Amino acid sequence: MPTSGPLVDRYGRVHDDLRISVTDRCNLRCVYCMPDEGMSFLPRTDLLSFDEIERVARVARGLGVDAIRLTGGEPLVRRGLVGLVARLSALGFADIALTTNGTQLAALAPRLAAAGLKRVNVSCDSLRVDRFATIRRRGDLPTVLEAMDAAETWGLTPVKVNVVLVRGHNDDEILDFAAFARETGRVVRFIEFMPLDAQGEWGPEQLVTGREVFERINEVHPLEAVTGPDRVAPAERFRFVDGRGEIGLISTVSQPFCGTCNRLRLTADGSIRNCLFSDDEHTLRDTLRSAGTDQEIEAILRRAVWAKYPGHAINEPDFLRPHHSMSMIGG
Ligand code: SAM
Ligand code: SF4
Repeated sequence: MPTSGPLVDRYGRVHDDLRISVTDRCNLRCVYCMPDEGMSFLPRTDLLSFDEIERVARVARGLGVDAIRLTGGEPLVRRGLVGLVARLSALGFADIALTTNGTQLAALAPRLAAAGLKRVNVSCDSLRVDRFATIRRRGDLPTVLEAMDAAETWGLTPVKVNVVLVRGHNDDEILDFAAFARETGRVVRFIEFMPLDAQGEWGPEQLVTGREVFERINEVHPLEAVTGPDRVAPAERFRFVDGRGEIGLISTVSQPFCGTCNRLRLTADGSIRNCLFSDDEHTLRDTLRSAGTDQEIEAILRRAVWAKYPGHAINEPDFLRPHHSMSMIGG
């Protein structure tokens, strides 16, 4: 394992994109993420403080990490998040982004932008008011659409719209979302439903593959691949041939992109996860809370990256679901 230079795994992949889950809490209960009855959340003292998060980010920055994404749970329910954005921004990351359910974004957008946030991904799984409310169990569509407008007003662009497709729930809206991308210029990213739902109800019959999405849209609005480097997006990018907008396909299940994965995740309780689908966690919290040195933090980051598997094994018969769900790991 190298002891200097960037964070590299044993297959030579450089890791320069850190996703930070700032909380496991959320004000919604999306059907593909949390159980009806809600979840038991971590005790507050288990969550990393902003000082601790900033310290990990600073060490990571020194190791070449240059992109940060704040996520959760719902990151905007964590009080003082704007202050954290400002602190991370001062560390000189090239990109600081946020993934949010959009319920509180409209009000916070000006302050987030002033603090140094560059862009947002807003989750929105239906363009129909009733269905939106059913999928999210709380929250309403107009608020989230207003949040997208506010993000654009304050320059948090490009606004990307995350759509998790679940067969039988919203797969009849693929063309509506394509039309939305064409009308608004927002990049709609279709995400395959992953076996990371807290209820453990994921089944392959619910999967709508990226291939299917491509075919259904391409038939009506011809698409062409967008080539060229886009290192912060795992999505396969396609633009409409007539020049009116772009979509992304995140085919984590059917076409894993592990071979080019450059991501590391810091969980809300201070562990480094090197893959969404691996239960291997390398805890930093004890080191942070016992006067550990920056060199010790660096060594944990290096070990976590080095321990990475060549790829996840969702499609293998012996695949075991991770113990933590998406809201705990951070998407
Ligand atoms: N609360 C924020 C939100 O909803 O955008 C951030 C956290 S959420 C866990 C991050 C992303 O994961 C969201 O786009 C969400 O739709 C997606 N997600 C949650 N559960 C998923 C699952 N089982 N499969 C695929 N994506 C999932
Ligand atoms: Fe909350 Fe996001 Fe999970 Fe929905 S997907 S329950 S908004 S964390």
